[in-house]
Amino acid sequence: MSQTGGKRYPYWDQSRSAYFWKDPWLGDIPLRICFPRLFQVSIQKEAKVFDMTIRELLLDRIPTRHNLFSNRVIVDLGGIYCVFCNESVELACHLFVRCQFLGQVW
Ligand SMILES: [Zn+2]
Repeated sequence: MSQTGGKRYPYWDQSRSAYFWKDPWLGDIPLRICFPRLFQVSIQKEAKVFDMTIRELLLDRIPTRHNLFSNRVIVDLGGIYCVFCNESVELACHLFVRCQFLGQVW
């Protein structure tokens, strides 16, 4: 179990080797149980969290607020700022490198 700034992230230490769908890395329940229909259609049932994150990052397919705005999921330009710190446009590089709040987590 890792601890950052007084907050506890019980599955964070395990997430690099955790299976995206089958391990409870994002809470107490595996995502295949929370989202059975998505799991059913997934072509990456054996993917690990770390591999999925890197692939999506390299393809710039992380659903950042900027990407959601670019794809017209978010229509309000004011809604593209980081949900964690609200100090910068939420790009992948902000979330993984520059965000002061998430820097405490990574
Ligand atoms: Zn931020």
